Amino acid sequence: MSTIHKVSNIPKVSKLLLVRHGQSEWNSIGKLQGQYDSPLTELGREQAGAIANELTSLCSGQNIKIYSSPLSRAHETATIAAQALGLKQSDVQIDQRLNDYNLGQFSGKFGWRVLQEDHPDLEYLRLNKPLEFQPPDGELGINFEARLRDFITSLPDNDTTTLIVSHGVVNKYIRSILRKLTGDQVIALSEGQDTIYQLDRVGDDYIEKEIRVLNSPDVAPTKKVHVSLGERSYDVVVGTGLLNSLQEHLGELINGRRVAIISDNTVLEKYLDSLKPQLDELTPTWHVYKVPEGEQAKAFSTVETLLHEMLDDDIDRRCVVIAFGGGVVGDVAGLAASLLHRGIEFIQIPTTLMSQVDSAVGGKNGINTRHGKNLVGSFLQPKIVLNDVDTLNSLPLSELRSGYGEILKYALLGGEEQFSWVEQYVDAIIARYAPKMIEAIRMGSEVKANIVSEDELDKGKRAYVNLGHTFAHAFEAHAGYGSFPHGHAVGVGVIAACKLSELLGVCENGLTNRVENHVQAAGMPTSLKDLSAITEWNGVSLHQYMLNDKKTFNGNIHFVLLKGVGQPFSQADVPLEKIYDALRYVGANVNGCVPL
Ligand code: NAD
Repeated sequence: MSTIHKVSNIPKVSKLLLVRHGQSEWNSIGKLQGQYDSPLTELGREQAGAIANELTSLCSGQNIKIYSSPLSRAHETATIAAQALGLKQSDVQIDQRLNDYNLGQFSGKFGWRVLQEDHPDLEYLRLNKPLEFQPPDGELGINFEARLRDFITSLPDNDTTTLIVSHGVVNKYIRSILRKLTGDQVIALSEGQDTIYQLDRVGDDYIEKEIRVLNSPDVAPTKKVHVSLGERSYDVVVGTGLLNSLQEHLGELINGRRVAIISDNTVLEKYLDSLKPQLDELTPTWHVYKVPEGEQAKAFSTVETLLHEMLDDDIDRRCVVIAFGGGVVGDVAGLAASLLHRGIEFIQIPTTLMSQVDSAVGGKNGINTRHGKNLVGSFLQPKIVLNDVDTLNSLPLSELRSGYGEILKYALLGGEEQFSWVEQYVDAIIARYAPKMIEAIRMGSEVKANIVSEDELDKGKRAYVNLGHTFAHAFEAHAGYGSFPHGHAVGVGVIAACKLSELLGVCENGLTNRVENHVQAAGMPTSLKDLSAITEWNGVSLHQYMLNDKKTFNGNIHFVLLKGVGQPFSQADVPLEKIYDALRYVGANVNGCVPL
């Protein structure tokens, strides 16, 4: 078989550049949504522009020929590249073979497998929306190699740099085949990975090295939101690389004081090593306290253990507590900090999307009791909230989507500008594209900060942050907490709240559809059946759970509803049949439910 790959059989391509468009994960999500031959999105165009700039420096002074797959988004990238290289449109040749040889499709399928190795939680996506594919077996791999070889040998044998723009083309597998076929003549450029690879021959072997990491076309500047609460005011900082610049953000605040870090196992395993030198720079003494993971950690016993451990270490009132983790860590650490010596200073470094956009802002903390969730707690505003979006890269996709439920909520509470922005960028946010992620978290924090600034102690307007939650909590309680991520229930809950608003005639018809489309675009469940196929979604039971909600007073459920995007209000005395109709809309069985 080795003769197939003889380098001498390959024409003298002076250089072969392979370019892909769009972000791999993002594209795959697009595929799941059936947008196989989609045009470039705005983000894809920005990326193609950055690639085009890169090509001009890689190819200056060379003869260039561009081959593009017929897919619209590949052709768009090729055209943008041609313009940057000063070529004519006729220098871009659509080559049907790039489709017929199944180059993209094959590598896309292969890419899926690689993606799933990196992100095992993508399995979740596939379960919800089955994607038909078989991982390539050996035979298919060899055929694929032959097809690719066929393509390369057909290229003009001259001193021309060949640029191939195709979908899914630049993955490690393809690069490895090309290295067999063309030796050191390949430069593979993948904007999805923001990296240019060069395949170099070393003796009989080849090495693949990164030659450049592209600057993001859309730089990701750090953004700030000010939470205005008089002497308890503070900033929410959102950006990349913040964990590596603790001194810059926390130096003045900590000023050498002793620090108590509260976190959980997963977060410590992933990030403590890189945090250590930063902490050493900040303070001569820091301690780490580990709390158990998950919702069950929000218990009296956790707080009691934590307080004893901190007192054992003489954590005094001049020390600073840092909550480093998701919402659970934040809630437990916040409560402990508010109790220790009747309150010591507290910093939030949240590491989940949910905690970055929601729970770390606003100063509420809490634990669960046998009477319900978050029934015991206090208010303690942090001194700063430091949101490093890089930490979200290690978050399972289902947790990411759960956090997205809160972004959706804040965009709807914020207004038309905020909601149409998330509609435009939902795919980029779910693909964890840092610039858009930063803006989404900034936007959510700002909406929450404005609400909290007006109603810190939750006596009125702050109830708006419960949009969709009266429904969502009932869904969770009925199915059993932990049956699905909280934010997924919020997504369906928000749809139900919009429907209820429409049914009551307080908002225009069409809002529910719009929100539903958006929830779907985020890859989140839009109905109760999608949330859990095994649960009997009985309307009477769901209504009972709503009656137990903490926003129910004297048997009267207080719903947060919308008069339109950005116009929330609270309403009690909602007729039961309307509640049932809203529940029916999201898939509850309300047959035989008799209004009381
Ligand atoms: P979580 O804190 O349970 O975290 C989810 C999981 O992700 C945990 O296993 C955690 O170890 C892991 N994790 C955290 N960061 C990670 C990272 N960067 N990479 C990989 N894994 C990581 O869940 P959550 O959604 O962050 O928070 C939910 C909690 O927040 C609930 O208890 C809810 O009541 C609370 N909450 C509080 C407020 C508030 O205002 N206080 C508001 C909303 C929600």
